[in-house]
Amino acid sequence: MFTLAQRTQRIDASGIRRVFDLARSLKNPINLSIGQPDFDVPEAVKAAAIQAIERGDNKYTPTQGIAELRQQLRQGEHARSGREWQDDELIITSGVSGGLFLALLALINEGDEVIIPDPYFVMYKHLVAMFGGVPVYLDTYDSDFGIDPQRLESLLTSRTKLLLLNSPANPTGRVLSSEELQAIAAVCARHQLPVLSDEIYSAFAYVPAPSMSAYYPHTLVLGGYSKSHGMTGWRLGWAAGPSHLIQAMAKVQQYSFVCAPSLTQYASLACPDVNIAPAIATYQAKRDLMVEALGDTFRLAPPQGAFYMWAQPPEPWTGESFAEAAIADGVLIIPGSVFSERKSHFRMCYTVPDDQLRAGCEKLVALAQRGPQ
Ligand code: PMP
Repeated sequence: MFTLAQRTQRIDASGIRRVFDLARSLKNPINLSIGQPDFDVPEAVKAAAIQAIERGDNKYTPTQGIAELRQQLRQGEHARSGREWQDDELIITSGVSGGLFLALLALINEGDEVIIPDPYFVMYKHLVAMFGGVPVYLDTYDSDFGIDPQRLESLLTSRTKLLLLNSPANPTGRVLSSEELQAIAAVCARHQLPVLSDEIYSAFAYVPAPSMSAYYPHTLVLGGYSKSHGMTGWRLGWAAGPSHLIQAMAKVQQYSFVCAPSLTQYASLACPDVNIAPAIATYQAKRDLMVEALGDTFRLAPPQGAFYMWAQPPEPWTGESFAEAAIADGVLIIPGSVFSERKSHFRMCYTVPDDQLRAGCEKLVALAQRGPQ
């Protein structure tokens, strides 16, 4: 009786789910497939959440989020970009996913083209397509997973609506330098092209990771605490950008999410006081371990940030055949085709204990050398 809307046909849920289906039959696999940190919410943040519940701060908050947190986040964004953010230029969202949803719903008209650097975070193309937009992929494989300004310029048409940026990036770990951001900004300024910059991994950077908003005023920055504070289930993100866009996103939020979860908002007030440097250093060491263990066998993208490794197996493997064989061998990795229009690579996430990382790497190297059966 229920006839589904066409927009549900424009997206598919396969990809990562297929890996999980395959994994279900395995006993104690080494899981390098999950894109989240392995540390728990810091004690001070948990305590702040408990206090908020007990205090009775359990009701709806203003649509755009509680004023104290908005102010704190504006200061945080100021520290990253040098820009003075006004009160109506920031909204608290249900994770960065919520911010992506609100922004793209508020911006995309049927047929609008959105430039998505490839490889990409999987949600981008599906949200763009769901809202009637057309993803236009900007291949980054032969520009070291950075963005070639000329290639960007060559993709622009009268229908181009937006450029999506993600640095540090999922799935490559690539960080765009200030010079690279400025070169991108120059192209965007010439063509009056706004930028949506997903900076959720800004805390996980092993080289300086500047914000696009420092170089280009027509930027909507998305940030969040899911990854930096191990709060993926708590759904806290924010968006900072031009007031008219933030207000349109607030309007959409009013009739959808209503507000980000109240207790998470109050708890997040404690986030800036937590020293996450040791956790970041731990991940940097894991990154080094992976590069050391895999660098001679696989072609690795420059792993400068986030907590992913994007790797190409030696021929005749493809990313797909290799992922399938690795999963059968008990190491869960994700075929690159989930994140790309190409099928050459696969993604690993290194937020697991070192002994598992080592064991996983050993298995992957042995498999790569053995070749497809
Ligand atoms: N952007 C990127 C690049 C991500 O990798 C993720 C999570 N995998 C998100 C956004 C969504 O994060 P959140 O939990 O804040 O919705």
